[in-house]
Amino acid sequence: MRKPKGTRDFLPKESRKIEYVKKVFIEAAKSYGFEEIIMPTFEKTSLYSRGVGDETDVVKKEMFQVISSANIEKYCKGEYNLKKDGLTLRPEGTAGAARLLIENKEYISLPKKYFYITTNFRNERPQAGRFREFTQLGIEVFGVKESSCDIYVLLLFYNFIKKLGLKNTNLKINSIGCPKCRPSFHDALKSFIKPKLKDLCSDCNNRFDTNPLRIIDCKVEKDKEAIKGHPVSTDFLCSECQSNFNDVINTLNSLNIEYEIDNSIVRGLDYYSKMAFEMHTDMKGSISALGGGGRYDDLVSTIGGPSVPGVGFAFGLDRIVIAMESQNLFDNIDNINDIYFISIGETKAKAFEIFEDLRKNDYKIEFELNNRSLRSALKYADKQKFKFVLILGEEELKEEKIIFKDMINSKQELISWDNIKGVLNEN
Ligand code: AMP
Repeated sequence: MRKPKGTRDFLPKESRKIEYVKKVFIEAAKSYGFEEIIMPTFEKTSLYSRGVGDETDVVKKEMFQVISSANIEKYCKGEYNLKKDGLTLRPEGTAGAARLLIENKEYISLPKKYFYITTNFRNERPQAGRFREFTQLGIEVFGVKESSCDIYVLLLFYNFIKKLGLKNTNLKINSIGCPKCRPSFHDALKSFIKPKLKDLCSDCNNRFDTNPLRIIDCKVEKDKEAIKGHPVSTDFLCSECQSNFNDVINTLNSLNIEYEIDNSIVRGLDYYSKMAFEMHTDMKGSISALGGGGRYDDLVSTIGGPSVPGVGFAFGLDRIVIAMESQNLFDNIDNINDIYFISIGETKAKAFEIFEDLRKNDYKIEFELNNRSLRSALKYADKQKFKFVLILGEEELKEEKIIFKDMINSKQELISWDNIKGVLNEN
């Protein structure tokens, strides 16, 4: 048996990296006052078709719809409507967060600042950095219209990546306008593209009427070439969108945050308006996008809630890990524990007593469980990069002492039991 295409197993040497990135994300989100929400892994299909948009790639081509065995029979008889009654494995987090806000009447006291770590599913063609099951680290702020909120969200977006130590990253921002000013941009875009339609892929031909904005971020090289010089959204902004965009840019400038205005950032989902942004690395191809987000002032009302503005983003955890690996940023998190405890001969009772005492006092310690010979246990400790080794043999037990080995400086000394913490703290 093999795992399904586009899914991955994570062995401890991988999951350790994931745990580290999640920890940094949680700390960063909390430092900006965000609190965790936990949402169901599947939602009603209609949430995504209404919220994310029927004409988006995610809804049109990539959703994993789920149907229980009991309903398959009904479906075959035409008594089960997949679109109305169906369920879908979460392809993204924002629509679910908006549904949670409405269903739990969280909009009664605003703003709300949420973060989440979710497993998402998209039926995409698997390739480097693109999986069918992947994890997103996301945040959403509901209830703030002012541009200060866009800036706040961008600060977290930017500083989280800096905190991870990632280099060669590029923050790209754009404004895609709002329902007031977007129609004139769409008209200009469509007039420009119409004569070139025959040169564009079939997807772009379909998008022409339903979602012309998406033609701008088509990944087909030939299409990119054909639409070079297309009209850009920032030339069509209404005064409200323009002032939002100016505020964001001016603040980023005064904070010395590097960014690039990139009019090809249009985001793939229908709910975005005004500011849109992405973080890229210099890695080649689709893997370069680490995360993205933007403002979505109409999402909550589109799915049946009151009018509540929102801004948010999601990073792809899998891509962050790949980028960090390529920059050797995990070298220092090889081992979760610092101390390796080896007990030899009839010393187990005392060994566990010392081990438990250190563990309860928050020393990061691991017990040798394999009954290896001392030589191979030390070899293992060296390979796993433990900083210290404690060895309790029968001789040491008699003398109420223990051997302390400093693996980094290759030093060894015999110390008394009541001095173990003192020696560990000194080193
Ligand atoms: P999106 O909102 O679709 O741009 O997704 C935000 C981020 O999630 C992207 O920048 C990627 O890092 C990540 N992501 C999206 N789809 C996938 C996928 N199929 N596999 C891995 N990561 C993904």
